[in-house]
Parts: sequence; C-alpha cells; structure tokens
Amino acid sequence: CGIVGYIGWRDAAPLVIEGLKRLEYRGYDSFGVATENGQIRVVKKSGRISENGADLTSLTGQIGIGHTRWATHGVPNDTNAHPHTDCTGRIAVVHNGIIENYALLKRKLIERGHRFKSETDTEVIAHLIEEYYKGDLLTAVGETLRHLEGSYAVLAIAENDPRIIVARKSSPLVLGIGDGEMLCASDITPLLEHTERAVFLKDGDIAALTPSRIDIYHDGVPVERSVDHITWSLD
Ligand code: GLU
Repeated sequence: CGIVGYIGWRDAAPLVIEGLKRLEYRGYDSFGVATENGQIRVVKKSGRISENGADLTSLTGQIGIGHTRWATHGVPNDTNAHPHTDCTGRIAVVHNGIIENYALLKRKLIERGHRFKSETDTEVIAHLIEEYYKGDLLTAVGETLRHLEGSYAVLAIAENDPRIIVARKSSPLVLGIGDGEMLCASDITPLLEHTERAVFLKDGDIAALTPSRIDIYHDGVPVERSVDHITWSLD
C-alpha cells in the first residue's frame, strides 16, 4: 500500500517511520522497516504505527526501507507484514501491488530448496533476488523482475551494498533528491518536507540510489528522467 525509502547521512529508521505516517491516510493493516548497517535488521508488526509501539531501537543505519501493507495475499499479521527477507536474511524487500504468478514461482523456488516464512506473493521477490545474487544487487533485481507478472513498486536492499534498488510497473514510485541523501516513496507526501526535487519513475524503470546519485535504467539501458520541482506544501 505505502512505501518509503531513505539513503543518506541521517538515521534512516525514524525518517522512514515519519514518511510512513504521512501515508497513513491511504489505510493499512500492518507496517515494517528494514535497515542496513553491515547487517539487515527488520522490525514489522500488524496494526497501526502509533498504537503498536514497535521497538525501532535495533534499526541502526543510514539505509532504510519501510512499508504499510494493505494485504492482498496472506492474512494481516506480523509475519506477512513487509519487509520480506530471503533465506539468508541478507536481502530485504518491500512491495506494493500484486505478483500474479507468485504461486508458480513459489513452487519452483521451494523445489530449489527455498524456505518461505510468509503467505504473501511478495516473498517470492526476496527469494528470486537471492537466486540471482552474485554480488551485484542491481543485476539480481533486474533478473528477478523479468520473471514477475503483475504490478509492483519494489525497493530492495542487501547486506554490505550501499544502495537501494527500486523498480516500478503499474504502481507508482517517486524519487526525492536531497542534499547528500535520496528518498523514494509511493507518493509525493513523504518527500515534501525533505526536498523540492522529485523524479517520477516511468513504468518499467529500475534505479539504483546512493546518497549522491540516482542511476536509472530501462530495458537494461541507462536513461535520463527529468527532475520536477514540487513547490507546493502541505499547509
Ligand atoms: N500483495 C502484497 C501483500 O499482500 C502487497 C500489498 C500492498 O500493496 O500493500 O503483501
């Protein structure tokens, strides 16, 4: 339902949580955040952010991804909340949308030895990335997307990879360009307090975010996308 990502010089988790609160108006049944700090750490819970007092103190690091879930596949509970991780716990993803062919993919992945924790369609994305991961997260996500049918806005992070890899198809995703920091979100509201410069990704785009760079690709080819100035405010 809602997605927020942050990479930069500040602590990611509080910023991601603040951003998720800005998306609360869209409704959700559970939420979660993952950060990277030499290790991937995940905190996720069913219920509302404000009422469930999730303990975010373990979530250190300047790279973070967060999600508010509106369940489509799998009941709303702590396990089915995003982020989802692969078998090793070194890859974490959040996802908006529906992976139509997840049942087939899941069956094949289980045959290859993957063990699933949740009932979601989303978890196949984490395991596919694990299958294709040979040290480069961008390549692994690119390979993974070729197998997905349906709709997605997806963010992925991996242990010891100083990037957030993002992609979208039939589901919105906006990038925010800050000063030594980059944000991304499923709509503009979480970005407004941090930057006036936004990049609206096109359908089928995949991008690599570092604190100082955004590299966007389409069909495996580097592309330029215009930077929009968003000058309106919330008040
Ligand atoms: N299909 C995914 C799930 O059920 C994502 C739902 C959403 O967009 O929040 O977990």
